[in-house]
Amino acid sequence: MKIFADPAELSAWTLSRRAAGARIALVPTMGCLHDGHLSLIAEARRRNAGEIVVSVFVNPVQFGPNEDYAQYPREAEADIEKCRAAGATAVFMPSPGAMYHPDRSTWVVEENLSAGFCGARRPGHFRGVCTVVAKLFNLAHPDFAVFGMKDFQQAAVVKRMARDLDFGIDIVVAPIVREPSGLAMSSRNKYLSPAERESALALSRSLRETSAAFAAAGGEMPWEPRKRAISAALSQAGLRPDYVEAADAETLEPVETLRKGCVVLLAAFAGKTRLIDNMVL
Ligand code: AMP
Repeated sequence: MKIFADPAELSAWTLSRRAAGARIALVPTMGCLHDGHLSLIAEARRRNAGEIVVSVFVNPVQFGPNEDYAQYPREAEADIEKCRAAGATAVFMPSPGAMYHPDRSTWVVEENLSAGFCGARRPGHFRGVCTVVAKLFNLAHPDFAVFGMKDFQQAAVVKRMARDLDFGIDIVVAPIVREPSGLAMSSRNKYLSPAERESALALSRSLRETSAAFAAAGGEMPWEPRKRAISAALSQAGLRPDYVEAADAETLEPVETLRKGCVVLLAAFAGKTRLIDNMVL
């Protein structure tokens, strides 16, 4: 497995592999890898990628000034071993200085799908995501890139960006990997105390209950009472809801009635840790 820190070296290598006919997959991550990330590498293998490039980069420009950039867990050595064991063929671990010129002044901005939900609560977040993903696309020259449904809005925004800017890269979205408790795997789960981890189960529980109620209602249900019930359940469990929303899974337009093809999107704080989860009905 190759390990790159230098963007130019990654680019030269992926270009040469492409020229030799290899189908290249890119799996962008911020590291501290868990089974959710590894499932994306497995998905790339299933799709017969000749080279699987995993980027591990805690992207400073997608964090707000009061967010957890400095504390974000970093485990480079363990990540390299996990990538190797999962079948990645290259890891890209650049420094922030290698990725961003001090006088950088160009951004990639998606203006519609990124407006609500996490975009509304984290100003500048998706601008940072789109910019780094565009840069990774330009450096890794992938045929396809694999993202997780865990970050539902992010996957939608990246798909739109890839389409609108003619990257010619397929965006594959893989399902959420959960712990046996139902908790969606996340690098940020490391921050949770045992009590917060218990509280955090209310997110996935609320989604399961919503899905069951939706099925019992015959596949159509007003959103507002369910939204109130979810907010109350999250608060009761000791979480501080950030948003509780339902939207059309394609357009991300908010809906008043839950129907098949809607997504329920949740964000809540457990102590200082912001967690997200979602479920498509
Ligand atoms: P992150 O390192 O948190 O930025 O995530 C990198 C990629 O892994 C993103 O595409 C995430 O959506 C995906 N991912 C993170 N957690 C999970 C999970 N539990 N299941 C599936 N994909 C995930």
